[in-house]
Formats: sequence, structure tokens, C-alpha cells
Amino acid sequence: MEQAIPTQMRALVYRGANDLRIETVPVPDISDEELLVRVGVCGVCPTDIKKIQHATVPPPRIFGHETAGVIIRVGSRVKGFSDGDRVALHHHVPCLECHACRHKAFSQCPVYRKTGVTAGFEPAGGGFAEYVRVLPFVFPGIVPIPAGNLLEEGALLEPVNTVLKGVRRLGLLRGDRVWVAGQGPVGLLFTRILTLEGVSVVASDLIGERLELSQNYGATEVYLADEADFGERLRRSAGGGFDAVVVAVPVDDLVCLGMDRLRGGGKILLFAHTKKGAMRDVDLGEICVAEKDVMGSYSADITLQEEVADLVFSRKLDVRGLVSHRFTLEDAVAAVGVAARPRSGTLKVVVQQAERA
Ligand SMILES: [Zn+2]
Ligand SMILES: [Zn+2]
Repeated sequence: MEQAIPTQMRALVYRGANDLRIETVPVPDISDEELLVRVGVCGVCPTDIKKIQHATVPPPRIFGHETAGVIIRVGSRVKGFSDGDRVALHHHVPCLECHACRHKAFSQCPVYRKTGVTAGFEPAGGGFAEYVRVLPFVFPGIVPIPAGNLLEEGALLEPVNTVLKGVRRLGLLRGDRVWVAGQGPVGLLFTRILTLEGVSVVASDLIGERLELSQNYGATEVYLADEADFGERLRRSAGGGFDAVVVAVPVDDLVCLGMDRLRGGGKILLFAHTKKGAMRDVDLGEICVAEKDVMGSYSADITLQEEVADLVFSRKLDVRGLVSHRFTLEDAVAAVGVAARPRSGTLKVVVQQAERA
């Protein structure tokens, strides 16, 4: 049944560096091959915040890519989706066929770089708007949300996927010991997923309150990162060296410290250094002779999607406790502000427009 859809909607529009405005814009038209989704929840993601703060992409755009909502109109030639379906969206999806995809380097795939969810302007996710248009090439990234789960849980599939992808890249064994630096929402997800995989997690953060949460998520040891003897305490905790270090906060010094606290043959994963140009000296002998691997992980792996959905929707990985702030779309400028300056009590910030249940 076709529902009445307005011609205008509200949206958070990026107009330049640190310039976000709530504006009235047209509701996107869809073609016969596309879907229109009424946004219910969209997470505020650090990668969008960086684009907004440093104006790394030209305005105007409507950001927001951790989106869950309800399908409200289905193009006449679209199969497999219906009005009223509750879904989580992925704004980009790899082709699975190109050279990069055959190497599982999905975020390097040329198709992956195209954004297939938009609320208008240059496609940029669009989740900070009332409606988004979903293009067919990202349909493989649409995940149905079970009736017993919240849209909010669907919105968190994307960040969970990026974390599981990072964990898989580390190739750890049960009983390994890993330091996760940074216990924001992403660091906490690492702590929880590593724990579920039988890895023992040592966690650190500058915010003491987060360390209590880390323990709830499974960390066996926690350290405040601004204590004078932090490096020394970590050295004692590492013993012969950590099997891996996950740097889940964009602090360059932690990469050097992490390299130093790894055992020979260990791996350091950079997860938060998404801005190019940060330079640091590294001991090349540590990489060659000590066989320490420096690796990065960025964005999601669609081949993990089913596993991610199962983890989250079964609540084996219960993401509900990760959301600390919920803002309406009209207050979305404040939502981005809170997420950009996390303090005690700030975890995942979401913009929420409709029912949560
Ligand atoms: Zn994200
Ligand atoms: Zn590809």
C-alpha cells in the first residue's frame, strides 16, 4: 500500500567546515529500480565528524551512514523488498569481482567508493534526513531487522562490522592477550568481540568511567592512560609482549608505545588513524627481524554481514548499552557536537526520529 509521502523534509546539511544547518530540502524522488526509506535512527560516526571539521569533501552534503529505518516506497521493478520492511542500510557495497575484491580489500574497490544511499546533493549517506533514496547497487547491503530488535541495533551493524573485520585481520588464537587502546564505542566493541573470541583484553582510556564499562564488556585489566607510570604498567602487563595491539583512538604516540609493547611476531592494528599525513618514526628492524606487523583496517566487510547480524540481533553482542545520547533530527547539530567532544558518559550518539522498538 502506497503511503502519502511529503514533498519536503528536514535534513542536517553540511555547508562547509564546521558549518551544519537544519534545512528543508526536497524528499528524494526514486526511480523504478530504487527504494525510499524513512529513516528511524542514524549513528553519528567519527569519520563523518572528521569530514565536517576538516572540510575534506566539498559541500553541500547530507551525511549519516549508520542508518536504519522502514522501507516506505518500492520501485516498480524492485524485487525482494516490501513497504514496511524494517531494515539496516549500507551506503556502499563492493562489487566482489574486481582485483581488490578478490584480495578482500573491499574498501579499495572502485564500486565500493560510490555511495548508494542519499538524501540529496552529492550522495553522502543521507541518514541525517527524514528520507533516503537507496540505489540498487547497495541492495546487497540491506539487512532486515527482526521484529524483536530495535532499529537502533540495526543502525549499529555497520560499526560492529568494521570492528569484526579488524579482529579477523589480526588472526588471533584463543588465549592470546591484546591491548585495546581507547574505549570509546569502537574500542568497547573490540573489547567485547575479542572477549567473545576467547582473547584476553587489556584496555586503556583517558576517561575512568569508560574503564568500568570495559570490564563489563570483558576486559581483564584496565589502565588510565594519563597516569604517570602508564607506559611502565603496560610493560608489566604485557609480560613478554602483547600478541596484538589495537589502536582505537587517533593518538600517534600510542602507535609507538604499542609497537614497543608487542611481542616478536605480534601485530598492531591502526583503526582510528583515518586522516592521512600523520608521520612517525618506526624501527624498521622491529618490523623485519622482530616480525612485527603494522596493519590498518577501514570500513566494513560485506562477507561478514550475516555473522554481524547474528551477533547483534541475538544480543550475544548487546549494543544497546553503547548508545549514550539520542537526539532528534532538529537537534542534530548538537548531536554532532556531543559526539565530536566526548567526555565522561559519552559513548555512541545517535539521531533518532521514530520508534526505537
Ligand atoms: Zn561509521
Ligand atoms: Zn570490487
